[in-house]
Amino acid sequence: MSDCIFCNIIAGELPCHEVYRDEQLLCFMDIAPAGRGHCLIVPLDHHADIFGLPQEQLLAVQRFAARLAPLLKHYCAADGIGVHQLNGAAAGQTVFHYHLHLIPAYQGQSLQLHGRDAGAADELAATAAALRGLLLEEGC
Ligand code: 5GP
Ligand code: ZN
Repeated sequence: MSDCIFCNIIAGELPCHEVYRDEQLLCFMDIAPAGRGHCLIVPLDHHADIFGLPQEQLLAVQRFAARLAPLLKHYCAADGIGVHQLNGAAAGQTVFHYHLHLIPAYQGQSLQLHGRDAGAADELAATAAALRGLLLEEGC
């Protein structure tokens, strides 16, 4: 899908701060984070949303989310991790390539799914590098 931002990122035609990649999925930092550590996980194949996503890809993305969530929680010293996923414009989806948001959450702070501003490139790069290191340590 040449007009899909995430397909372009997957193809290497647009840059991203990559956290992890395998034969089924890519994980990278959200460019406009709702908070520090906001990651996205996308299947490599283009499917707009949950309605047409093959189960195998759904499970691969979920499995990786379960692997990354505790590392992200630890790295960000968060109280929890929100795993969010929107389907359709009516639900607030803005990029129509299926993806999960992983967003660190803190007691007493209101939840937000979308950031307003682009994240600082050096902070996104540092977080991506730290998470890559933690995944490597874990043997992913
Ligand atoms: P949605 O609203 O579809 O659930 O979330 C789309 C997310 O993609 C938003 O949080 C937005 O900041 C993020 N996003 C949009 N364009 C880009 C991009 O070019 N690069 C990255 N890394 N994230 C993007
Ligand atoms: Zn796509």
